Amino acid sequence: MQDCIFCKIVRGELPSARVFEDESVFAFDDIHPVAPAHVIIVPKKHFATLMDIGKSDAGISEKIVNAVQQVAKIKAIDKRGFRAVINTGDEGGQVVQHLHVHVFGGRRLKFELE
Ligand code: 5GP
Ligand code: ZN
Repeated sequence: MQDCIFCKIVRGELPSARVFEDESVFAFDDIHPVAPAHVIIVPKKHFATLMDIGKSDAGISEKIVNAVQQVAKIKAIDKRGFRAVINTGDEGGQVVQHLHVHVFGGRRLKFELE
């Protein structure tokens, strides 16, 4: 999408610190990290939210899961453990309207919803 910031990052129109990329997904360091490792993974195709992946796009789910694994290995948090989060919609706390997975790690993470 024209004005979507994550689409602009995918197209290279906005700078980002790339962590991983394949033909379907792009992963980059979050600009405001809340953990020593905080990576955002996006599908290169624009989906507003998780709810917008349809049956014909099913392959993207596997691509995203593979990207989570690759990012965890690259950041050396695959064995220590990490958290993958998809904020979805208004009450889910989604701010950027392009489907993305947060990967957090590098310290012991509390589980707090507030
Ligand atoms: P959300 O609340 O939508 O799940 O999270 C959006 C995330 O994207 C936030 O953690 C925010 O710091 C990150 N973010 C927003 N704009 C940019 C940007 O221009 N570059 C990078 N690297 N991260 C961004
Ligand atoms: Zn987008």
